Amino acid sequence: MLIEKERKLGRKLLATGNGRCNLMNAGAPVYFGDEAFAREALNACGAKEVGAFFESIGLAFFEEEQGRCYPLSRQAGSVLDALTGCINTFPEGCVLTETEALHINKTKAGFEVITNRGSFFAEKLLLAAGSPAAPKLGGTDSLIEVLRGLGHQSLPFSPALSALICKAKDIKGLSGLRVPCTLTLYADGKLKDAASGEALFTDYGVSGLCAMQLARAANEGLEQGRAVALGLDFSALLGLKVPEYRRLTLEEARPADKAAILKLLEKREKLLGKGRLYTGLLPFQMAVKLKAMSNNMAADWLGDLRLPVSGVKGFEQAQVASGGLLCAKFEPETMRSKLVPGLYAAGEILNVDGDTGGFNLLFAWACGILAAKDISKSLKD
Ligand SMILES: Cc1cc2nc3c(=O)[nH]c(=O)nc-3n(C[C@H](O)[C@H](O)[C@H](O)COP(=O)(O)OP(=O)(O)OC[C@H]3O[C@@H](n4cnc5c(N)ncnc54)[C@H](O)[C@@H]3O)c2cc1C
Repeated sequence: MLIEKERKLGRKLLATGNGRCNLMNAGAPVYFGDEAFAREALNACGAKEVGAFFESIGLAFFEEEQGRCYPLSRQAGSVLDALTGCINTFPEGCVLTETEALHINKTKAGFEVITNRGSFFAEKLLLAAGSPAAPKLGGTDSLIEVLRGLGHQSLPFSPALSALICKAKDIKGLSGLRVPCTLTLYADGKLKDAASGEALFTDYGVSGLCAMQLARAANEGLEQGRAVALGLDFSALLGLKVPEYRRLTLEEARPADKAAILKLLEKREKLLGKGRLYTGLLPFQMAVKLKAMSNNMAADWLGDLRLPVSGVKGFEQAQVASGGLLCAKFEPETMRSKLVPGLYAAGEILNVDGDTGGFNLLFAWACGILAAKDISKSLKD
């Protein structure tokens, strides 16, 4: 029996990967929180096994650059169809939507789950209730308290992949603009994290996946009372760097080559004159900002624009949350609770969050498969 509080199954799933669903990642895992637990679980059921599961239920998918996998249809709906189609093949299977689990009592025979539509009894219980990220798509932490009552401890949830708030006059007027960019995050002037991709300027700051990847480091710095700043390097926009779409190590986050930017500006000035220096090179809104600056100032702006970060957007805008149930009390090969016999947990409710690129869904699928295998094995024994 599957219990879902929303009117339809898989609301968050349908929104993943901009509706294309970045199903999983076949590359090297990048996880935070109880990272070692995630690694052990994925050793027991990694991208190969998850891929084989999806193939077995009829979902065709392909691998893009950096291990990102998507359904061949490029539609998240195909993933949901494959999963629900599979449930429908079990005559004894039952899906209850608009049914919210409100409380869980441990009984001698298993569990009593109290919902808004009455109580249900189960020998085994798998909790896959997610996190409070994206509440409009069903995100909630409502079951964490119930789990605490059963003896499981948790860390508070925080938005982990979310946009950065940096209201600064330097980016005023750029709202809506999407540009290739290398982003660096500093706390008290010290480099903490870096990512490369497309930055999206908004009226509150900077969004886009590469900015969201820096939210964890920004949150950490702000919680410690440090001065947090975002560095933006537009060398890729100027054609001086190949645009990349990935998290960078601190060693890879090299400063922009200011001399090369200056040389480019000087060459264009000779060719086109000061008045048309940025025409055909920069988006109009950026060109307007830079035209009053000296070449030296413009090179600083384009190579290492620093914006003070005052916050990270909340759960409403977050794709994933950090925090959740501490994994030490679960077995990574089976997802079994070490405290409550018959109880299992899967996915984002656990204190594991992954990088962008399909790592969060991969972990959720892997946990579900491991728990299901263990449950069916124990019911057969
Ligand atoms: C916009 C967006 C895009 C994303 N894109 C990607 C991507 O491309 N690739 C990727 O890997 N990850 C992506 N993620 C993250 C990914 O969607 C989540 O990490 C993943 O869905 C977590 O799976 P889950 O099963 O743990 O939780 P969820 O998918 O959140 O499912 C939990 C379900 O439990 C239900 N529920 C909660 N409490 C109760 C209750 N008390 N009673 C009954 N039902 C309850 C909820 O309604 C929900 O349907 C994205 C997230 C968002 C918001």
